[in-house]
Amino acid sequence: MPKRAERIAAVPPYLFAEIDKKKAAVVARGVDVISLGIGDPDLPTPAFVVDKMKAAVANPKYHQYPDYDGSLAFRTAATDFYKRRFGAAFDPKTEALALIGSKEGLSHLIWAYIDQGDIALVPDPAYPVYKTHTALAGGVPYIMPLTKANGFLPDLKAIPEDVARKAKLLFINYPNNPTGAVATPEFYAEAVAFCRKYDILLVSDNAYSEMTYDGYTAPSVFDVPGAKDVAVEFWSLSKPFNMTGWRIAFVVGNQDAIGALGVIKTNTDSGQYTAVQEAAIEALTSPKADAFIKEMNAVYLRRRDIAVAGLRAIGLDAQPMKGSFYLWVPVPAGHTSTSFATLLLEEAGVVVTPGSAYGEHGEGYIRIALCLSEERLKEAVGRMQKYVKV
Ligand SMILES: *Cc1c(COP(=O)(O)O)cnc(C)c1O
Repeated sequence: MPKRAERIAAVPPYLFAEIDKKKAAVVARGVDVISLGIGDPDLPTPAFVVDKMKAAVANPKYHQYPDYDGSLAFRTAATDFYKRRFGAAFDPKTEALALIGSKEGLSHLIWAYIDQGDIALVPDPAYPVYKTHTALAGGVPYIMPLTKANGFLPDLKAIPEDVARKAKLLFINYPNNPTGAVATPEFYAEAVAFCRKYDILLVSDNAYSEMTYDGYTAPSVFDVPGAKDVAVEFWSLSKPFNMTGWRIAFVVGNQDAIGALGVIKTNTDSGQYTAVQEAAIEALTSPKADAFIKEMNAVYLRRRDIAVAGLRAIGLDAQPMKGSFYLWVPVPAGHTSTSFATLLLEEAGVVVTPGSAYGEHGEGYIRIALCLSEERLKEAVGRMQKYVKV
């Protein structure tokens, strides 16, 4: 085989693959492994969406290439949703694109902006795509630490002037994966002002906007007046509608940025299957959608409270998240993220994700995803007990 491209070497080691290997070894021993590792909803896509898909599959019009930008009907459903949910207006023809999942859109947006040596401002810990694709494109991720002390919000004032001037992208993601933190309206206003000052594209990943608890409603970056001058926001059907397998999301915002992403996309993929877009329109517009999301949030809320109470009872400092479906839990004294995660997997048969998998500032934490039944969750916490208490 020929030598691989140099850019492959720039990709940080994929810790999840290591976890999978260890997990396979434990499963091979016959252990009934419980996973708190994967952020993938365990419950099915709602029936009203599945039924729409069944009908759409039979439509021969959809058996041909889809529109590159997404069907106008899907983009209109997306922009109508943003108007209704956040009060933000977008032209579906020029300020919205359908995506084959946010991951696809986020990664391609990076290729649309980052040349060799360009800087992207990337939170740490974070969803790995921001940093990985910046590196793949030859860019330089500038790390913004998310710590308990700063409420897991990047300290924009700490970014050196020369770095800010050189930066082209700033990534933010609230409600946050992996920390479960939420952003204040003031933070969004500060981020918009910062990006305006330094001519940076603000990339807001709002994948968890609908998954909130305790009466909290998540804002959009477009709550900030004038945000459209500097920002795009990604919104995915994956998490709120249990549709991770369907690969459907969209991005709205600045027309120039949407156009740049479109150049990469039209030369890479040929759009998402129109039947999937039809099903997603149903999710975005059905009168049943609000009730479905409420019901799902009630499920995650019960799991959260069971997990938090259980983890605290065994001596772990679990804090209830206001958004997302992740608990970000400090490891016991004497452990690293990896040593604790490895112990739990090998001795208790429980998979958790070491915080260090999301970046160096995730060290000292594990991430627990609430994508399993209350019964399994209780069983997992019970098994963890003897490896926590001293
Ligand atoms: C799950 C997730 C997404 C959604 O990804 P899709 O590709 O749309 O499934 C985006 N951002 C973050 C931070 C996520 O955790």
